Amino acid sequence: MTQRNAPLAANSAVLAAALAGAASATAAPNDTSAPGLTVARAEQKPAVAGAPGNFTGAVSVQLLLLPDPAGHPSTAEVRFEPGARTVWHTHPAGQTLIVTAGVGRVQRWGGPVETLGLGDAVWIPPGVKHWHGAAPDSAMTHIAVTETLDGKNVDWLEAVAPDDGHP
Ligand code: MN
Repeated sequence: MTQRNAPLAANSAVLAAALAGAASATAAPNDTSAPGLTVARAEQKPAVAGAPGNFTGAVSVQLLLLPDPAGHPSTAEVRFEPGARTVWHTHPAGQTLIVTAGVGRVQRWGGPVETLGLGDAVWIPPGVKHWHGAAPDSAMTHIAVTETLDGKNVDWLEAVAPDDGHP
């Protein structure tokens, strides 16, 4: 090998190592030495009150996996008491909501207020300003699956004003 070719050879070695690393990230189906399952028990995850700056009204949040698996979405069950809601916000990599109880509301900035019921699901694309919460006369619970980009999954904005069109 000549000096001239050395940098290329070094790059090839780096590439080979990267490929080997990528290959090892997915275990063979029967490889019992691969990382195991994570079972996050219900009693280890008490619901906590939503941060006042991020919500209006009474909201409780229970993270579903502790800790969130690195590189995967965060998951939470969120209960909104009647009339409670998030402030306006965006998600840098998007969010999926699945309603598991009650009657809810969701609205994107400039769009109509939509009613949500049991089993309804919503995909909120990256960067779309929106809020979600309970109907005025009903509590609502949803599962939130929130994608992460560079370690961040939400940017909180201003509170939802009465003239923003929500009931
Ligand atoms: Mn959201």
